[in-house]
Amino acid sequence: MSSTAESPQPLKIVIVGAGLVGLAAAVALRREGHHVEIYESSTFKTELGAGLAIPSNTLRSLIELGCIVTNLNPVENLCFTSMAHDGSEAGLKSDHTDYEARYGTPWVMAHRVDIHAELLRMVTTSDIPGPAATLHLGQRVLACNVSNCSIALATGETISADLVVGADGIRSTIRAAVLGEDVHIPASGTAGFRWLVDSAALDPYPELDWIVKARPLGARVISAPMGLGLADHRTIVIYACRGGDLINVLAVHEDKRDQGAVPWNVPTTRDALLDFFSDYHPRFRRLFELAPVDGIHVWQMRVVPPLANWIRDRVCILGDAAHASLPTMGQGFGQGLEDAVALATLLPLGTRRTDIPARLVAYEGMRKPRTEWIARESYEQQAVAEKRGIYLRSIEMRDAVMGYNVREEVKRVLSELTELTKSDC
Ligand SMILES: Cc1cc2nc3c(=O)[nH]c(=O)nc-3n(C[C@H](O)[C@H](O)[C@H](O)COP(=O)(O)OP(=O)(O)OC[C@H]3O[C@@H](n4cnc5c(N)ncnc54)[C@H](O)[C@@H]3O)c2cc1C
Repeated sequence: MSSTAESPQPLKIVIVGAGLVGLAAAVALRREGHHVEIYESSTFKTELGAGLAIPSNTLRSLIELGCIVTNLNPVENLCFTSMAHDGSEAGLKSDHTDYEARYGTPWVMAHRVDIHAELLRMVTTSDIPGPAATLHLGQRVLACNVSNCSIALATGETISADLVVGADGIRSTIRAAVLGEDVHIPASGTAGFRWLVDSAALDPYPELDWIVKARPLGARVISAPMGLGLADHRTIVIYACRGGDLINVLAVHEDKRDQGAVPWNVPTTRDALLDFFSDYHPRFRRLFELAPVDGIHVWQMRVVPPLANWIRDRVCILGDAAHASLPTMGQGFGQGLEDAVALATLLPLGTRRTDIPARLVAYEGMRKPRTEWIARESYEQQAVAEKRGIYLRSIEMRDAVMGYNVREEVKRVLSELTELTKSDC
């Protein structure tokens, strides 16, 4: 059936990057009825295996987009239990048993690959509204021409669109085009050893029962005491994912390497790990001994500094490209997801190409202050001793992060914008 002059026309939207946030943006925008094309440089063969915290606000946004939660193989995170590095019990750090009642959704843990796979399903399935998005793998984007809203691929091809969305991560190419220059992402002096271990490997060791067998179930945090120099910044977070079959370990520490001189993510050895944590209690060292020989990586953690702008004409950025944060708040993906929901809700079917620049101004206005606050807090809650753990101790802060309803907020912004447009006519 041919469309009439009055029928609302979908926008052609190009997304650069098919990480968690790029895929989430594709789902949110297809739900509005737009035609979405995603260009991703990788072929997904090296998908990162690691766990990811999905706090209540993140899970709520995922469900609203059409996520089938069981496909994430989630594990509930009912608490953070803290322990000192010498093995003494430090007790319950935070109790999350009321999160579902308070925020509408619980806090769960999942494997990144499972989240990615579920988002991929949502991008292409016919079970949710809007046309399926198209994913182009192995397509590196070299540049973005902001004035004519197009991208240049490494193949030499140029793709034009009504809107270009940069979801290309912390080293974003699209961000450089939006800002007109490259941004220096400063070293934070913090890095994390990161690995996964099969839960079954823990079974022969009753001294490890505290990880997934002891109640209440949830994440365990092992902190080194203050005042030991290098030991100041060692915090190990351990939790189960993939339905309890895998244990994710992230050991955050002060990084004494010259971070500017080494790659951002490098493999390391089990011996290096054991050496680094040589003063830890044997029950923790037992866990380190079970780490896979090949599969431990050291990740530098960096924060994107506040940027002058996220938008220019009909090009915008979101996710890590705009506001990568430290994992202390567990909000990296969640904030990118909120960006995706906000952007799509501001661009309902019927939005004209000429409306886009004003909608992007509204998008930046509502997302930039919140994500800059969270990124700054994520850094300070690592770097400032008095602030460590305050996020979960402060009900006000928790409510501000997890009680925030991005959809309600964006509807308010959209209705203000519509009133403003009417009064201009
Ligand atoms: C150690 C660690 C632990 C973390 N833990 C958590 C957590 O528990 N909870 C949480 O919410 N967040 C966590 N995060 C943060 C979270 O992983 C990120 O915020 C999130 O994955 C960012 O997604 P993204 O899609 O914006 O970027 P990315 O995942 O970086 O995806 C960018 C994509 O763009 C592609 N790309 C890049 N350049 C180009 C180009 N020129 N052309 C085409 N494609 C391109 C890349 O290949 C990639 O697929 C953690 C991060 C780290 C480092």
